[in-house]
Amino acid sequence: MSVYQNIPRANADVLCDLRSDTVTRPCEGMRKAMAEAEVGDDVWGDDPTVLSLQARMAEMMGKEAALFMPSGTQSNLCALLAHCGRGEAAIVGAPYHIYHDEANGASVLGGIALHPIPVGTDMAPSPQAVADQIQPDDPHYAVSRLLCLENTVSGQAIELETLRAVAAPARAAGLSVHLDGARFFNAITALGCQPHELAGIMDSVSICLSKGLGCPIGSVLVGSTEVIARAARARKMLGGGMRQIGVLAAAGHYALDNIAPGLDQDHQRAIALAEALRATGLGEVRQATNMVFFTPKPEIRDALYAHMNAQRVLIGRGETARFVLHRDVDDAALSAAIQGFQSFQA
Ligand SMILES: *Cc1c(COP(=O)(O)O)cnc(C)c1O
Repeated sequence: MSVYQNIPRANADVLCDLRSDTVTRPCEGMRKAMAEAEVGDDVWGDDPTVLSLQARMAEMMGKEAALFMPSGTQSNLCALLAHCGRGEAAIVGAPYHIYHDEANGASVLGGIALHPIPVGTDMAPSPQAVADQIQPDDPHYAVSRLLCLENTVSGQAIELETLRAVAAPARAAGLSVHLDGARFFNAITALGCQPHELAGIMDSVSICLSKGLGCPIGSVLVGSTEVIARAARARKMLGGGMRQIGVLAAAGHYALDNIAPGLDQDHQRAIALAEALRATGLGEVRQATNMVFFTPKPEIRDALYAHMNAQRVLIGRGETARFVLHRDVDDAALSAAIQGFQSFQA
C-alpha cells in the first residue's frame, strides 16, 4: 500500500497544492534557461553547463569539488559509499531521511551498518549520543566511519553552534561528517548565514534542487576532490551516469540565481498560514521554515480534510498533516487555502 494513497491527486482545478515542495513545476524562465542550455556528454565530462554548476556549487560551499546527481537519495547513498567501506558504520539521527526514508540503500548496496541515535526537540542528536555510539577499536564491532546530520529536519533549522558541538566528538574520533541538506537553502535562509558557514562544518553536503528550489530534478553533492571522485564511481555503478543533462543543470543555475535568494517568502507565507490556522481553533499548529504541521481535533479531522478537498486545496493528511509552502503557492493560492480552513463548519 502506497503512503500516497490517502493524499488527493493534483489536477487542473486545484487552487493550492500544499502537499510538498516537490510539486513545483518549472516556471517559464526556468524552462527558457533549460531550452537554451549548452550541453555535452556528461559521462565524458563534456557538458559545460553541468561543469559550471558543479564549479559554482563547490565554490559557494567552500569545497574542492561537486557532482550533479539525479536525486537526493542517490546523492546521500553515493556519499555514504564514498565515505564508508563494507562492514563500516555510519551514525545517523533516527528520524533522518538517510535512516528512515531511503530503503536502507547504504546497507543493502554498500554493506554499511546504519547506527541510529535519538535526536532532541531541536532535531539534533546530543554530542553525548554521538560519542556513545562511536565504537571502540575492537574486532567485535563495525568500524565507526561517518556521522550523518540533516538540516533542515521536518522544516526545523538546526543552529550552526549546535551542529559544531555535535560534530566535535565524531571529528575527535576520526569520523567524517556528512550533511543531508535536501533543504540546505531553507536552512541558511532561516539561520541567516552564508552557504560556506553551514557547509564548512561538514566533509560533504547533499543539496536538493528539486525541493524548495523548484527544479524538476537534481541534487548536488559537494566535498573534497577525493570524496567526489569516489562518489562519481558510485554514481556510475548505481546507473546515475547521465548524458546531455546541461538542460537539468541550467534549471539549477536558474534556481540559484532567481529562487534561492527568495526562499524567505515561503517561510513568511508559512508563518501567515500558521497564524490563520491557530486563529480558527481547529487544532494544534507548529511552523518551521516552509512547513506547517497541523493536528486537527480528532472529531473534526475527516470532515475537515473532505472540506479542504472540496475547496480544491490539496494537503497532506494523517493525525498530523504537513503543509509545505513553495514557489507555486503565491498570495492568491495562500488566500484560497486560508479561506478554505476559515469556511469550515464543524
Ligand atoms: C527529499 C529528501 C531527500 C531525498 O531526495 P529525493 O530527491 O526525493 O531522493 C533526502 N533527504 C531529505 C531530508 C529529504 O527531504
